[in-house]
Amino acid sequence: MTNEQAFELAKKYIPGGVDSPVRAFGSVGTTPFTTQRGEGAYLYDIQGNRYLDFIQSWGPLIFGHCDKDIQDAVINAVKLGLSYGTPCQDETNLAKMIVDEFDDIDKIRFVNSGTEATMSAIRLARGYTKKDGLIKFEGCYHGHSDALLIKAGSGATTYGNASSAGVPNDIIKNTHLAIYNDIQSVEKIFQTQSIAAVIIEPIAGNMGLVPAKKEFLIALRKLCDKFGAVLILDEVMSGFRASKHGSKPFYGVKADITTFGKVIGGGMPTAAFGARSEIMDCLSPNGAVYQAGTLSGNPVAMAAGKASLTKIFKDENLYARLEKKASNLMKGFKQAANSNGFAMQTCVRGSMFGFFFNQNEVNNYADALKSDTALYAKFHTNMLKHGVYLAPSQFETGFICDAMSDDDINFAISSAKLAFSEIKNG
Ligand SMILES: *Cc1c(COP(=O)(O)O)cnc(C)c1O
Repeated sequence: MTNEQAFELAKKYIPGGVDSPVRAFGSVGTTPFTTQRGEGAYLYDIQGNRYLDFIQSWGPLIFGHCDKDIQDAVINAVKLGLSYGTPCQDETNLAKMIVDEFDDIDKIRFVNSGTEATMSAIRLARGYTKKDGLIKFEGCYHGHSDALLIKAGSGATTYGNASSAGVPNDIIKNTHLAIYNDIQSVEKIFQTQSIAAVIIEPIAGNMGLVPAKKEFLIALRKLCDKFGAVLILDEVMSGFRASKHGSKPFYGVKADITTFGKVIGGGMPTAAFGARSEIMDCLSPNGAVYQAGTLSGNPVAMAAGKASLTKIFKDENLYARLEKKASNLMKGFKQAANSNGFAMQTCVRGSMFGFFFNQNEVNNYADALKSDTALYAKFHTNMLKHGVYLAPSQFETGFICDAMSDDDINFAISSAKLAFSEIKNG
């Protein structure tokens, strides 16, 4: 079967042929390939084509596909059972591994997806503060729960419109939108609203890669303290990706609640939220904030997470190594773009990288949206043809995995040179 045939068939039985919309390649206008298997830095499609994979399952696979240690841990766990519905020791083991690394986290609870982690974190923040208001930032993604599916009308607005059908206005009326890297837009909301929590991606990875400015995040922390609001740092993507301690070494800003996902599951569906005991003990069964999950803390997922974090903690140079590759890649892409007359902004944070076809620096969502999406679509299509798989949208983050060699990075850069000169000579 060809990729086209497989996708036609998928579309017959699954809406749009995918279980998560970005996989459909809608932003680049092509047909996605269907994967047969992954190995190290590469994906192989059902026609036997090989792609250097800069998505790595959208973040989780920091050691690449089929990492032997993680695979062995999963296989061993599977032999003991797929799910117990009782406490298992690896839940405590993985919780301790994470808690020990963060001085703003005493306890952690596991869930099955980043969406659940942020949704539960917000409920917990509301239960803890006994307030309802929530501030989120334009361009930040925190999963697909109702209260978070909201975008700005235009520019600085406090009330937003749901960015999805099926979300009642009643549900989003407590969600207030602020502008990323613009502290005044936050202050204005605090002055008129009773705010339980501010949720932010400290290193935003879902409008392309746009890190918070240090002075902005520090000021945000101060505002939350002043008004008695909970600061939720959503590190579902940046956690164990930007560094071993996520955003925290870049800013020195402590969270009240931190959310994790992606890397902590090592490729299995696991996420978590953690905070100091005073907040976490508001959760059921200790406290009045209800939260639960049939498969939460699943033993196979816990084993994958434990194996993944064990490897991370054992390897002092891991993030420096990954960052060097990400920086080299971005340097190469920028040179290739510029020498063919295309403007490019690049950004690297640890193993995360991002680039915009844009003349100007990108500091928020409105800036990001001014990027050239038609050029990105052409670049994506040409890169894929040359065997390099980049995110099928400019407004995503790319990921380096430890299985990527310097040769792989050089291959991607040569492919970019080729892709840009093909576009220029179009
Ligand atoms: C991916 C992501 C989520 C949602 O996680 P899912 O596991 O896809 O539900 C939430 N927040 C951030 C910052 C993310 O990158």
